[in-house]
Amino acid sequence: MAPPPCLLILEDDDAQRLLLGELLRQGGYTVLEADSLARAEEWLRRETPDLVLLDLGLPDGDGLDLGRRLISRGIPVMVVSCHERERLKALELGADDYLGKPYQPRELLARVQNLLRRTHGPAANDQIRIGTLMLHPGRRELRDSAGQQVFLTRGEFDLLLELATAQGRVRGREELSEVVSPGRDAASWRSVDVLVSRLRQKIEEDPRVPRLILTAPGHGYRLRA
Ligand code: CA
Repeated sequence: MAPPPCLLILEDDDAQRLLLGELLRQGGYTVLEADSLARAEEWLRRETPDLVLLDLGLPDGDGLDLGRRLISRGIPVMVVSCHERERLKALELGADDYLGKPYQPRELLARVQNLLRRTHGPAANDQIRIGTLMLHPGRRELRDSAGQQVFLTRGEFDLLLELATAQGRVRGREELSEVVSPGRDAASWRSVDVLVSRLRQKIEEDPRVPRLILTAPGHGYRLRA
């Protein structure tokens, strides 16, 4: 049997961290805990967690730089915060998920499970062509015509996959926001626009004149079939 996934919790509020750790251990995970950036760095020198739950406000700095480094190393990051404004920060950071405090224990476990499944799921062989790019849903990879990987965040990947499977049909902002942040309100429509603009930077020859991800004004987006 594979060992249980290893999660690192970075949270300086002792009560929150202990509660979170307890919930996740009960959920069957191996849990590492850190109450500061320095402590988290110590863990990261020794271990490579499968997921990091990151609080952005920490006694020795904000977690943004660490979050960025984790993401560039391919370690999924879930930002856990009580400040709604940090949701946008998390999105700009490219975090894989955001969980607002207070949260329901069951929601937390479901989110962690989903995120691990998305990022460590079984491989599939299907590929989808997007212009000269190739999308591998099972491996969660996008490769250019030279076979080089184009690095996408979880949100960017899910959005692109949703558009790709729509086969040229328009997807509304509501539908897309449901894909990238389930259960969110109208505020997350803006998140969809942010993600599309970041995707265009990564995959369009000229992001100002998009030829792959097209805008359906007042409605949503579609991929050129
Ligand atoms: Ca904090």
